[in-house]
Amino acid sequence: MVGGAPAPKGEGGPVSQIHCHFCGGIIQDVATIEYRPPRASAQFAVPQPTPCTCSPPVVYEHPPMLGGPEEDQTPDGEAA
Ligand SMILES: [Zn+2]
Repeated sequence: MVGGAPAPKGEGGPVSQIHCHFCGGIIQDVATIEYRPPRASAQFAVPQPTPCTCSPPVVYEHPPMLGGPEEDQTPDGEAA
């Protein structure tokens, strides 16, 4: 068995902070983010080094997880 040094992978490296678009604070729990479709009239708060206190935090972006066929469809599946 080849056992190398346990590399701490997963939560290491430069973690990109996500700023709340409502208050500009840093979102602590990304699982509570409420994603909203970006709109031209959306007001983006200036990013701040302080933690976000919104509940839930609002981010005007599309959810990272795909699951809504109502939005843009990815021409990925080549149906035979
Ligand atoms: Zn906030």
